[in-house]
Amino acid sequence: MRVLSVASESVPLIKTGGLADVVGALPGVLKSEGVDMRVMLPAYPGLLDKLGPVEEVWADWNLFGGHARLMKGIIAGITVLALDLPHLYHRTGGPYADANGDYWDNPERFAALSWAAATVARDGTGDGWKPDILHAHDWQGSLAPAYLRYYGDGGVKSVLTIHNIAFQGVTGGDRLDSLRLPWHAWHPDHAEYHGNISTLKVGLALADAITTVSPTYAEELMRPEFGMGLEGVIASRAADLHGILNGVEEGTWSPEADPAITPYSAAKLAGKAANRAALIEEFGLGEVPGPLAILVSRLTWQKGIDLLADALPDFIAAGGGLVLLGSGEPHLENAVKAAAARWPKRVGVRIGYDEALSHRMFAGGDAVIVPSRFEPCGLTQMYGLKYGTVPVVAATGGLNDTVIGATPASLAANAATGISFHPIDAIALSGALRQLTALYGDRAGWSRLVKRAMGAEVGWDRPAKAYADLYRSLTA
Ligand code: ADP
Repeated sequence: MRVLSVASESVPLIKTGGLADVVGALPGVLKSEGVDMRVMLPAYPGLLDKLGPVEEVWADWNLFGGHARLMKGIIAGITVLALDLPHLYHRTGGPYADANGDYWDNPERFAALSWAAATVARDGTGDGWKPDILHAHDWQGSLAPAYLRYYGDGGVKSVLTIHNIAFQGVTGGDRLDSLRLPWHAWHPDHAEYHGNISTLKVGLALADAITTVSPTYAEELMRPEFGMGLEGVIASRAADLHGILNGVEEGTWSPEADPAITPYSAAKLAGKAANRAALIEEFGLGEVPGPLAILVSRLTWQKGIDLLADALPDFIAAGGGLVLLGSGEPHLENAVKAAAARWPKRVGVRIGYDEALSHRMFAGGDAVIVPSRFEPCGLTQMYGLKYGTVPVVAATGGLNDTVIGATPASLAANAATGISFHPIDAIALSGALRQLTALYGDRAGWSRLVKRAMGAEVGWDRPAKAYADLYRSLTA
């Protein structure tokens, strides 16, 4: 089974968010399922140098007005097809924007990527490789399934994965020609979206299958509170919609083998206490008699940071502590900095992005708080499970699918792996933090909960099999 994956980012070459982690993990985890996956990416500045030795496997003298060369290389075991198209990808800022905002021609930049992917999927590459499936990610890849449908698919089936419905590739209706869409794409069942074009919408309408990154988010996407205007289109495809959770890279996230921490395991938890003490010292905190909570996140409305700020005073008064790492909206950065100034011995805050510190936090924390208003999958609650850092989560999206909330029944059955709250507001979060403090106070019960959390399955085995089964069902 051969699969061409097309996306705007992938580790280890280019990353701005969780999308890159998933796109970069899939080729490796799918190998044992007999799937040979290649990843097509734009050749942003410097990307070809990172990729190392490359060979040209396809070219187009006029791809959206420039000479395109598709360069094959291998990095970290991933076969990458980098689309070298300087007039669209050689920009001085990031992959999507510079200091002046989004690039004006982003729709065409990623239409070119999608066009190349559809063409290569249909015709194959010069080295004799032709996929059975084209797997596109988010709005940047979502025209590829549409091009296959409009201009011939050569027997290739398509899958489109939604990582976050907030980004929909919306642009003016006058760009139909420049996006190489046929006139009949201008229809409410295809690309037309309230007088504009949505590249995500036409992909959702025409892909053979749609996936998103958790079963609960798949259900939520069909409702107006979460679908962000596309709920009707998604509901019309319910029979072809699949929720497949992301996994955690166990090579990077395992407390037994993490070089950034004092190692520990469910059987030997002593190391966790050493990590807690080190974290308290690193942030200059005093004694924290209650649970030491952590939070690692973009600081945005989606992530519910304002809810935590509201719930914090009661939690601190009850003996809790907090270490927070993140960056984002200025008013939220200010709110968390104010908390650190108010309780310098109980609250530590680092504004920025720091992967090594995040490992030390997961090792040293007692609980990780994830109060997201919506969360397609979420990764930090899964790191929390792996590290015995009990997740306290809003009951939404992937948080709902990965954490079994503590109730009298789930605790009695030794099934609980965390604490879950609903509705998603500051009062319910406060209640969850009171429950956390109470559970933490029962030492024997707490240790059972930590060990049960560490036993939760959050690796890639199950998701990899689900993707492979989906590919097989499409080609059967
Ligand atoms: P999203 O993709 O919506 O930001 P996820 O939970 O799916 O949320 O993924 C976020 C990833 O980025 C996680 O791996 C998380 O640990 C990491 N991360 C977020 N903020 C920081 C930060 N400030 N420092 C280090 N890692 C971070």
